[in-house]
Amino acid sequence: MKITFLGRYKGSTVKKFKINPRKVTIIDVTAENKGFTVEYKTQSRQCSGYQLQYAKNSSFSNAVNVTIKQNISCRKVSGLQNNAAYYVRMRAYTKVKENGKVKKYYSAWSRKKKVKTRDVKLVCIDAGHQQRGDSSQEPIGPGASSYKAKVASGTSGVATGKPEYQLTLEVALKLQEELMRRGYEVLMTRTTHEVNISNSARAAIANNARADAFIRIHANGSDNANASGVITICQTPANVYCGAYYNASRRLSELVLEHFSAVCGCKNGGIWQTDTMSGINWCTVPVTILEMGYMTNPAEDRLMSDPAYQDKMVQGIANGIDAYFAL
Ligand SMILES: [Zn+2]
Repeated sequence: MKITFLGRYKGSTVKKFKINPRKVTIIDVTAENKGFTVEYKTQSRQCSGYQLQYAKNSSFSNAVNVTIKQNISCRKVSGLQNNAAYYVRMRAYTKVKENGKVKKYYSAWSRKKKVKTRDVKLVCIDAGHQQRGDSSQEPIGPGASSYKAKVASGTSGVATGKPEYQLTLEVALKLQEELMRRGYEVLMTRTTHEVNISNSARAAIANNARADAFIRIHANGSDNANASGVITICQTPANVYCGAYYNASRRLSELVLEHFSAVCGCKNGGIWQTDTMSGINWCTVPVTILEMGYMTNPAEDRLMSDPAYQDKMVQGIANGIDAYFAL
């Protein structure tokens, strides 16, 4: 700035002012899956861009800085933790050329905002069995002295001739799609038939991912061709391997069973509590085995391969999962 004196006074003086940009006003910070979106008022004067800062603490130590160009009024940040709180603040900057060098001048920080990323539940789906069973043995639980086949070969449809591993994957893939549509994160133990994953290895997939629920899809078989209906299976409260997950697994089993039978209109065969299932005993997450119906019952076998009925089964399972997480 240059001031020129009037009248008899002579000479001039030069004073320099730093004109910092105005504070940024954050309109809203909304939660996203493993992230958030910040909306703010843009500034047209004295503003070359914005700096967004976020941290897990309100003092912004170890904060992450994001530089945003001018005229952009919102910014999505992703790749953060699930269901975690973050503090967010912003400031504007202006670039000024001084003695041939570009300097950045910042506004004061905006008011800080707190946001919690969405709580997205992870559901692990295990399509029971595989193209070829594996009769080699594994312990039925951590440290167990009794052993069972790694993966049994499963039953097959008396009317359709369809092997169980095929039916379970058909339903599992539809369930994956429906759960993702409902906002869940989904992990599949298998998406093809040509795999060899033991029951303990299937549990390990759910455990390692810290799944919030582990849904194991199966179909039943019986010597009695009239046997029909759905059952679910979980451990007993006295289970020495995973008794700690009894309450959660029992609730999951109850709700999946209840909603499945309600939507499908099939017989509710109740919950079977047993400690003989390797794929349950190895679990460190809430788990249920769903036996959707009997492939040894011709009518129910045909029904379970009917696309419209499969959609019903999927709705029933998904409703049960929704109800489990709504509690
Ligand atoms: Zn099975």
